[in-house]
Amino acid sequence: MALLNIAEPGQSPLPHQIKRAIGIDLGTTNSLVATVRAGSAAILPDEKGVMMLPSVVNYTDAQMPRVGAGALALAAQHPADTLMSVKRFMGRGSRDAIGDAQRSHYRLAEGEEGLVRFMTSSGERSPVEVSADILRVLHKRALATLGGEIDGAVITVPAYFDEPQRQATKDAATLVGLRVLRLMNEPTAAAVAYGLDSAEQGVIAVYDLGGGTFDISILRLHKGVFEVLATGGDTALGGDDLDAALAEWVLQQCGSPSLAPGQYRQLQAAARAAKERLSDEVAVDLDLTGVLPSGGAVRVTREDFESLIQPLVKRTLGACRRCLRDAELDAGIDNIVMVGGSTRVPLVREAVAEFFQRPPLVDIDPDQVVALGAAIQADILVGNRPDGDLLLLDVIPLSLGIETMGGLVEKIVPRNTTIPVSRAQEFTTYKDGQTALAIHIVQGEREMVSDCRSLAHFELRGIPPMVAGAARIKVTFQVDADGLLNVSACEEITGSQTSVTIKPSFGLTDDEITTMLQASFSHAVEDKLARQLAEQRLAGWQLLEGLKSALAADGEALLSEEDREAITVPMTELRALLEGQDTDAIRTLTERLGRQSETFASRRMDKSIREALAGMSLDALDDEVMQ
Ligand code: ADP
Ligand code: MG
Repeated sequence: MALLNIAEPGQSPLPHQIKRAIGIDLGTTNSLVATVRAGSAAILPDEKGVMMLPSVVNYTDAQMPRVGAGALALAAQHPADTLMSVKRFMGRGSRDAIGDAQRSHYRLAEGEEGLVRFMTSSGERSPVEVSADILRVLHKRALATLGGEIDGAVITVPAYFDEPQRQATKDAATLVGLRVLRLMNEPTAAAVAYGLDSAEQGVIAVYDLGGGTFDISILRLHKGVFEVLATGGDTALGGDDLDAALAEWVLQQCGSPSLAPGQYRQLQAAARAAKERLSDEVAVDLDLTGVLPSGGAVRVTREDFESLIQPLVKRTLGACRRCLRDAELDAGIDNIVMVGGSTRVPLVREAVAEFFQRPPLVDIDPDQVVALGAAIQADILVGNRPDGDLLLLDVIPLSLGIETMGGLVEKIVPRNTTIPVSRAQEFTTYKDGQTALAIHIVQGEREMVSDCRSLAHFELRGIPPMVAGAARIKVTFQVDADGLLNVSACEEITGSQTSVTIKPSFGLTDDEITTMLQASFSHAVEDKLARQLAEQRLAGWQLLEGLKSALAADGEALLSEEDREAITVPMTELRALLEGQDTDAIRTLTERLGRQSETFASRRMDKSIREALAGMSLDALDDEVMQ
């Protein structure tokens, strides 16, 4: 007799229900949404069949922001209301964003915690809100195409995005009601789209030349985990620069007439169209209608174009060279993945192939490859592949730690640790009777707090008064799969606890990360010496404090005047030394003073034992003995 399967109460006896999962490439220039259908990833087009949504929002109409091509069309007329390349401002303070804003003619305001905001004729908008408007369109598109609620989304971010930049991206998704399963690094997504994660291991270079930025990343795949070995690039180099170079050249061909801003924009658009056609054709006619009163056309050959952009392509290779050096590889690159619309330019492909000494992967549309990889990851995370054991992990770009005494940094999660991660470390109080602890969270590779980036401050209160060093405070750092940090501190005797989720005020650019890393290498020796000095000062200072309170309590009773002086004289000497920089002198004197006060310490110990015994009744002593 056959056995019948009976479902558990509340569980569907139907086969595995497919969930709706999407991947979103929230790009600087263009954004896309993709999903996995019938086992393969595909981009979801809009109702007109267009896949790419320009990452542009126009706020001229307060009731209805326009997003995408419609907004782009209004850019010339309403430049301050039409926000482009907003990704550059995500999670950044207005002070470090000013340069970018000047280039793009935005009017900036300063919001909460110094975060940047844009002034439009419909009021102020934050980069998070603008990104949310872009995500809203993609979300709607997915709802309409997939016919129901979306169960989860994976959104991609550049590998160099730091905590605040990632948090800002997540906030934008939350604003439109998208459930973010995970943020994924763009180069990792591209590698996944090519199925490179199925290999046992390998080193992958991802070359991403988009509209306004160039990113190079070196990833290492090991046991299903992609580790970012190094990132580099140029935040002001992309397809727009190729357009500009061509536009300049065309103007020269026409005798360098001066153009009105509207005519110049026409020329740029014509140059861009010509550039894109030159990827497939060997010569094109660049249309001058709207540029010159006489109209007409200029013939551009691929050869002309290639000689114009040669220096720009070279610059990307320079960044590749630096990135390879930073990655400190002991073996060669196994694969090169091409990402971004500008990698369609044949010269770019040839230059990359020559530089890495192997042909790059170009079979998947370079505009789509990131969104496709994100969709594959979303499909797995939402549980559509029961056999999907792939759980891609990323790493944190800079070490995380806390400030300890003397302005030193104690690293708790070192850089390049795979996330999610949870690390705990115990700390203690440094003063007698201390009931609160100020915890300062920092990010960076240097030894001194002043050389690292401050992320947050918080306080743990309610520590019972104890002698210095007796309290046990456990500080736990948790970084979730999206790279978001939660820090909690717990006093283990009373169990009092506080925690903070890091939503710091602004982010770092990739250049800043690189600079911070380089600084940590070039200051290694200096940092070590500074650390030794700070540690030695701290030891000296703690000894002084301890002796001061001990002398006040028992100095008169337990020491002769001569003995007291043998301690107080070097104490004064040490106090003076602590003002200076002489690590060795501080160490020597601290050790000597420590030895000199040993007798005093043991007399105090005897005294406290005697007192403890004296305080007990004979009965109590008997009880003690009985037990
Ligand atoms: P982002 O990642 O910055 O959002 P994309 O990857 O969408 O940017 O790349 C946009 C850039 O790609 C634009 O400069 C566009 O002109 C360029 N591009 C698109 N198609 C082609 C093509 N066929 N040939 C050359 N460049 C192209
Ligand atoms: Mg891109």
